[in-house]
Amino acid sequence: MIDPVQAAGWIAGGRAALDLLRSAAALLPGRDDEAIARRLDDAGQALELASAWLARDLGYPICRCVFPPKPMLWDEARAAFVCREPGCGRAEPSG
Ligand SMILES: [Zn+2]
Repeated sequence: MIDPVQAAGWIAGGRAALDLLRSAAALLPGRDDEAIARRLDDAGQALELASAWLARDLGYPICRCVFPPKPMLWDEARAAFVCREPGCGRAEPSG
């Protein structure tokens, strides 16, 4: 079984590595911008999908307004889990 805390650390590390690669890609001489951007987008999507699986395994509701799906985070003021995706805002009460 995957330790959720460890998995969250892997995902955070993956995001940091991806951000670093995006910055470094802009500095490569003779680069194929389109191919690099496509590969980085694929890696970013895989990372977001892993994040959604982890959130689901940790008990967070998932909103399917976009793909990869987004974890809904607790909003104390609304007393509900809320999707933070711009233009969505779907809420799901706890329990
Ligand atoms: Zn949503």
